[in-house]
Amino acid sequence: MNKLTWGDSGLRDGADNLVLDSQQIIVTRTDHVPLLRFYESTRTVALGAYEDKDFAVRSAYCQAKSIPIIRRLTGGGTSYLYPKQISWSLTLPVQHLNIEQWLDIICMAVCDGLSNSGHENIYFNNPNDIYANGQKLGSVYVGVLDNVLIANGTLFRSLDINTMLHALRVPKEKLTPAGIHTATHRFTTLPNLSDAGLLQLKASLAQAIAQSCNLPSIMQIPWINNTSQTYVCDHHNLPENAHESTYSGFITTSGGVLHGRIQFDTDLRISSLHLNGNVYIRPHNLFRKIESVLRGASETEITRRMDNLFYENQWELYGFTPHHIMVLLRRLFEQHGIAVKLSIAPSSASSFMIHDPDGTMDAFDIVAKADTLLVPYCAKPAWCKWRHKDGCSQCGKCDVGEVYKVARQQGLNVTTVRNFEHLEIALKALKKRGTKSYLGMCCNNFYIKREYAFRSANMPALLLDIAGANCYDLMQEQSAYSGEFSAESSIDLGVAEKVIRLAGRKPMQ
Ligand code: SF4
Ligand code: SF4
Repeated sequence: MNKLTWGDSGLRDGADNLVLDSQQIIVTRTDHVPLLRFYESTRTVALGAYEDKDFAVRSAYCQAKSIPIIRRLTGGGTSYLYPKQISWSLTLPVQHLNIEQWLDIICMAVCDGLSNSGHENIYFNNPNDIYANGQKLGSVYVGVLDNVLIANGTLFRSLDINTMLHALRVPKEKLTPAGIHTATHRFTTLPNLSDAGLLQLKASLAQAIAQSCNLPSIMQIPWINNTSQTYVCDHHNLPENAHESTYSGFITTSGGVLHGRIQFDTDLRISSLHLNGNVYIRPHNLFRKIESVLRGASETEITRRMDNLFYENQWELYGFTPHHIMVLLRRLFEQHGIAVKLSIAPSSASSFMIHDPDGTMDAFDIVAKADTLLVPYCAKPAWCKWRHKDGCSQCGKCDVGEVYKVARQQGLNVTTVRNFEHLEIALKALKKRGTKSYLGMCCNNFYIKREYAFRSANMPALLLDIAGANCYDLMQEQSAYSGEFSAESSIDLGVAEKVIRLAGRKPMQ
């Protein structure tokens, strides 16, 4: 293969860098030239290629701060780019390797490049994070387009954790001072480098990448920046806006969180479908192909159409399987069933999260067998003396009292979950008691972040997403941590009552 040609295109905005990535792919594909471009980006939120913007980014915050949102050509999660990062894009003619192998090779090459230039204790954590002395130093993302592998990477030279946590909806840290403090300690930066030191590091990275990718040599060139400012990116033109007849849902997998949005026609056939996720897939348009193949399908036709598609096409899913997509689709159909049975709007039905470890129960099986309701403390008023205690005097001053009342009428045990540790204890107690399934309420951020805790409890649950302020909500947290914690989430009482009334044993006397 050709030598690796590398250069530096300097500081540009995120959209221009995206144009340069696309041009790089064209050159690599047509001329079979492996290219490595270093650059810096002005402040930009870069969505993964397949991500759902609404789940990944706080658009209002980005708009208020004039931070543009772009969509990378590479998979994985959202990144926040800003000056004083070493960013780079690599394009190579594709070889017979899978996504996992490419991530391994390129992450390892970055580690070698750093180590060879004198940086110590460098390693990477699967799938794509570069670490120095136990702290995150950067990331790598890959994608395959038109038989060209593209990798994007960043290494931090400075940190802007505050903006990152506010701009990205990634439920990694709560937006409390403690959360930002914790995140700050999870990240690290390269030491201060002179211009010569920076150039030497880039040359070392280029050399290591060339060696890892079996390229015989490297050649540095001055990079010609020939983008035009025609790539317009605003906060409204990404196509995932919810519609009132849209059902939406997600499932967590080892490869990331898969999101789906669906609309049905009057015969309960799929009239529109959008699949997204902070995942890696091949080919690049696989989700679009699935959406197209399933248009017009009834629930019973999905399996056959999916089987045919995956049989006829070469594909790769990293950390999940077609079965996960099927489970997601089944959940979206189930949400329609919930909406019909409870006479609620699609958006309300979409707030149900079905946790079914064995995949054998539907939402109504889970409700029918539930003997317990878990309520989060954040749904109680900040002034209530029961907020951080298990119980409620049903004083009538908030919806939680009504929830307690209806649940007790149905014979359900009700527990206020006071914190994560308490949730684990409560779930263990339920398991020990022989609980078959339970109902719960929590924000979807909490479920995504702590899904493993629900999984390890190994009991099916129907969880209702809470609305209003939540621990991961930017503005509420801002006000919350400036003084007394006062954020209060809210329960959709009408929906909660309807589902609780389907549950439980005989009323207690
Ligand atoms: S109803 Fe219960 S949770 Fe709500 S304010 Fe009264 S005691 Fe507190
Ligand atoms: S907002 Fe979410 S994470 Fe925060 S306390 Fe409520 S349920 Fe838990």
